[in-house]
Amino acid sequence: MLGSLRSIVQQVNTARDLPSALDIIVRRVRDVMQTRVCSVYLRDKHSGNYVLMATQGLNQDAVGQVHMAPGEGLVGNVATREEPINLEHAEAHPAFQYFPATGEERFSAFLGTPIIHHRSVLGVLVVQQAERRRFDEGEEAFLVTLSAQLAGVIAHAEATGALATMGQQRNEAKFSGLAASPGIAIGRAHIVAPPANLATVPFACAMDVDAELALFQQALSAARSEIREVGERLKGELNKEERALFDAYISMLDDSSIAVEVCERIRQKLTASRAWAEVMLEHVRRFEAMSDSYFRDRAADVRDLGARVLMHLRQQEQSQRDYPNNTILIGEELTASVLADVPREKLAGLVSVKGSGNSHVAILARAMGVPAVMGAQDLPWEQIDGVDMIVDGYRGSLHLQPGPELRRHYEAIVAEERELARNLDHLAQLPGETADGHRIRLWVNTGLMADVVRSLERGAEGVGLYRTEVPFLLRDRFPSEEEQREIYREQLEAFAPRPVTMRTLDIGGDKALTYFPIEETNPFLGWRGIRVTLDHPEIFLGQVRAMMKASLGLDNLRIMLPMVTGVSEVEAARKLVDRAYDELLDEGYAIKRPPLGIMIEVPSAVYQCRELSKRVDFMSVGSNDLTQYLLAVDRNNSRVASIYHSLHPSVLQALLQVVTACHETSTKVGICGEVAGSPGGALLLVAMGYDVLSMNATNLPRVKAALREVNKSDLDRLLQQVLKMESPEQIEEKLQGYLQDLGIGGLMQPQQTETSSDS
Ligand code: PEP
Ligand code: MG
Repeated sequence: MLGSLRSIVQQVNTARDLPSALDIIVRRVRDVMQTRVCSVYLRDKHSGNYVLMATQGLNQDAVGQVHMAPGEGLVGNVATREEPINLEHAEAHPAFQYFPATGEERFSAFLGTPIIHHRSVLGVLVVQQAERRRFDEGEEAFLVTLSAQLAGVIAHAEATGALATMGQQRNEAKFSGLAASPGIAIGRAHIVAPPANLATVPFACAMDVDAELALFQQALSAARSEIREVGERLKGELNKEERALFDAYISMLDDSSIAVEVCERIRQKLTASRAWAEVMLEHVRRFEAMSDSYFRDRAADVRDLGARVLMHLRQQEQSQRDYPNNTILIGEELTASVLADVPREKLAGLVSVKGSGNSHVAILARAMGVPAVMGAQDLPWEQIDGVDMIVDGYRGSLHLQPGPELRRHYEAIVAEERELARNLDHLAQLPGETADGHRIRLWVNTGLMADVVRSLERGAEGVGLYRTEVPFLLRDRFPSEEEQREIYREQLEAFAPRPVTMRTLDIGGDKALTYFPIEETNPFLGWRGIRVTLDHPEIFLGQVRAMMKASLGLDNLRIMLPMVTGVSEVEAARKLVDRAYDELLDEGYAIKRPPLGIMIEVPSAVYQCRELSKRVDFMSVGSNDLTQYLLAVDRNNSRVASIYHSLHPSVLQALLQVVTACHETSTKVGICGEVAGSPGGALLLVAMGYDVLSMNATNLPRVKAALREVNKSDLDRLLQQVLKMESPEQIEEKLQGYLQDLGIGGLMQPQQTETSSDS
């Protein structure tokens, strides 16, 4: 059964469109389960009814004609109950409805399972049999498993279908994801695809067929020389069979039938890379479907060869590609390094199929003030290169090919946003304090050079977190000590005499360096932050030396350690910092010893806060990771993003415990997770007694505006009420209401009205 399951899903995955996907499903399931009938009903988005979309065994004329409302008939019942219905004699069931068009009076046994995607019922998969018998447990389990696996594929195929109609009728299409960085972007999609993945080459039309043909020939000959070269180099180390593989690659590249097929598709106006990917994937599938295991194994070779040529094609395409104004970057999994490729003035928005609002790329997008939607799982992203679109970073929605009405609506919001920002401009010169004079340090989180100007313009009083891994992410090797010194000097100089907290390298998790790959099954629980740098003292020492050298004459450096789990790590790191400092003194640098602090972002550190605080000069809570570890929710996983809450009652208890412990040992404590940058979160943190709130420059004016409206004594009352609440939803609602009552609800987002497409 497992084999059949896999092969059905694989085949459906490669279907060109929704009708062919459904056709494969009904044919294959009927064969595998040896039933008389297999049908798929899908929910019609407009009417909400379930419509027969494909069948094997029922009258074909009934396709598109049979509709059932939720709760109506057996199919409607499967949908509303969201569980299988398995009947020996369907007609005897009170919900049974007879549809003459289907000719189904001949069938008795009925098994229907719901097709559920992201908690919503997309449709129902049904098998039927003429004789009276109950489908056995194994059959029921098979259909349930298959429906669960097919749900995502069907949703994707439906979305692609919506897109195809959109192309013909110039209709708008809407997709949803997670609101990851606030704001509205109106622009044009620009796809970023991994360079060597045949399956993710965007669908795009060739502008200049001759140029694409030439590009293809160049890529073929570049790949040929590369393979020959590698083959030559490894000659002595390979046995005969392995050498034969290189010859096989060359002869495949010389195979004129493949080249002819590709050129044919280019002439039909596909880009060279798309044409090549389509042809090679068809060959891969043909090999994969062969019964002989030797030939099946060759599929991997064909894929590998395809990827090599594709790499050349994409390198040449990228070098010729220009970013248009208002670029909206779209990819399956965008990373921080992609951001650096696009000139800031041209970058309007970001969309990623994977990831969530807590992924690092989203954090950077917020810092840069670039609207972003993450986790747009159903977006057929490979097919929308060059399409006009709107990114709504407040609601997490995407509108493709927006009509004039929708455009006007969003242009009005953009104007409102500008007005809101202008109204906050004057705050830059005013201190961060409550209406009754309680002073609070409002610092910024930085990483990119662009953050510096924005932060200073907005009146930042210091840097609470400089993410040193950002410059590391944007390179193709570790920066040298001198290169690092120059980068750090720029930060320290720009903010001097204000304090700048530099965090030592925090790689691992979702921050991977291309030149230092870390392959782990569970990266957020693995080799991350201080764990990596303590294992590589040469990297750690080089970095802290560079930081301290950079602070020469400025003396505004603070060094901070990420991902601390226990005291021994702090002691080991302190020894290294002391060693680097002594070395620099010996080398003649007259530097002040920088304060050393740690981040509290692992639950063990919360419980050992007192012990840790005695060993350091300051603490800063990393609530992004602390939330992830306390709630056991991967911050990068869009599937569980709805249960990631930095204002969860358990997180608030932890935050309170940290501030209490730190103040008992007179250690200054700040917070640099994203929660500090939300006006509601900031109010609670001030009430708890946090000394420093560090946030991105975009949010700083909003938080300052909120704080200047309230009295500390009122916040203390608010905190007491919130601490009694039992769910994050209650807390979020309470804070929203509180800001609204103060007349500053608009700080959260512009007062936009519902759009017609929201309904
Ligand atoms: C945090 O975890 O809250 C934090 C500020 O660090 P980062 O988001 O870079 O992991
Ligand atoms: Mg962190």
